[in-house]
Amino acid sequence: MDRTGSLSVQPAQAVQVVSSTWQRDSHDLFDFEAHHLNTKTFTVPKSMKCIRSGTDVQMVPEHVPPPAGADPLLRLVQKDGAFWVDKASPSTSKKLWLVVRDLATCGHKLFESDIIKLGRFKFRVRQMVASSCGGAQPELRLDDTGATCCAEAPNAENNSMCRICLLEGSSPEDPLIAPCQCKGSIECVHLGCLRHWVKGRLNLSDNNSGSYFYRPLACELCKAVYPAYVHVGSDRFPLVEVPRTTAPFIVLENMVRDSQQHASRGLHVISLAENKLLKLGRGHESDVRIADVSISRCHATIRFHRGQFVLEDHNSKFGTLVAMKKPRALDPGNSISIQVGRTVLSLTLQPPPDLGHGAASVVQSSTSGDHSCRRRPSMGLGLRSPDEHPEG
Ligand SMILES: [Zn+2]
Ligand SMILES: [Zn+2]
Repeated sequence: MDRTGSLSVQPAQAVQVVSSTWQRDSHDLFDFEAHHLNTKTFTVPKSMKCIRSGTDVQMVPEHVPPPAGADPLLRLVQKDGAFWVDKASPSTSKKLWLVVRDLATCGHKLFESDIIKLGRFKFRVRQMVASSCGGAQPELRLDDTGATCCAEAPNAENNSMCRICLLEGSSPEDPLIAPCQCKGSIECVHLGCLRHWVKGRLNLSDNNSGSYFYRPLACELCKAVYPAYVHVGSDRFPLVEVPRTTAPFIVLENMVRDSQQHASRGLHVISLAENKLLKLGRGHESDVRIADVSISRCHATIRFHRGQFVLEDHNSKFGTLVAMKKPRALDPGNSISIQVGRTVLSLTLQPPPDLGHGAASVVQSSTSGDHSCRRRPSMGLGLRSPDEHPEG
């Protein structure tokens, strides 16, 4: 008799899915403090799709087309003896967001290019530097300004004149450059003159650790965004004279939804030296302050712990979320919660179901409008080291 199967491969398990849906439909937010949620519990023994019509969540077989008007939320895929969580469809469906407060570790280990969502606001982790070895400094680059390091000015033979100081002539230390789309008599400017103007506009605060908010500035005449760096010969200079940042530090980019928010484009450069706790929130003491109703006073923090940057939620009303970049396997010891629009789905792997039942999903209970808060996934394991299952 072949007994290896029973030793090495667990029989198919099931997933307990607890869905909680906020009754309001507002900016894809979910209110973690709401008392009136539509809650449902499912036991899912095989690959299935989760859909929502209004506030009603259902699990349907994978290849059954959803009823008209239903939003696909996610797919649970049973593969290789494990259950995977994936987007409902590769391109069209909503993003899946990991709920940080429900992680068994209560914190998420950040990676570069992670996308964090607080309330309605998103940030991209651009850079994390753990130690001062190597002397790394913040890379002042936003997505669409990456390629615009500008070249030296056209020939000095042209008798080019600086449009700020109106003087001709340049030196290796203070070259004339053409930093934007302006042409003709206003094409050139001294690097020093432009730096002086930028410095006045950016109003970088002075502090010992070198934390600041960097935003790209545009030419007031042609509206072209000035480059972050200027090449002079083989050297590269930052256009902005920024303070030196002490490691460990992190660079977070404000992700801007539309042109109305354009003024807030930029990079938060924040040093966590001397065990500093990075605070994100609406309160005045925040390092990254967002004055918006979807942000709690002390919404989330990032701390540097044992060589890792760890994101933690502080019971914020609208949650701290991290975008799921790829399918994620459910781990027997750790429940996870995933937010899709106004629904949070808590997923827990269960021991094999009673084989006497059929394969259909079983709705165990359904409550709505009661005063109990959302059920958190079980966390029987106590405190553990930060999340060991990065997405990227
Ligand atoms: Zn000048
Ligand atoms: Zn210009």
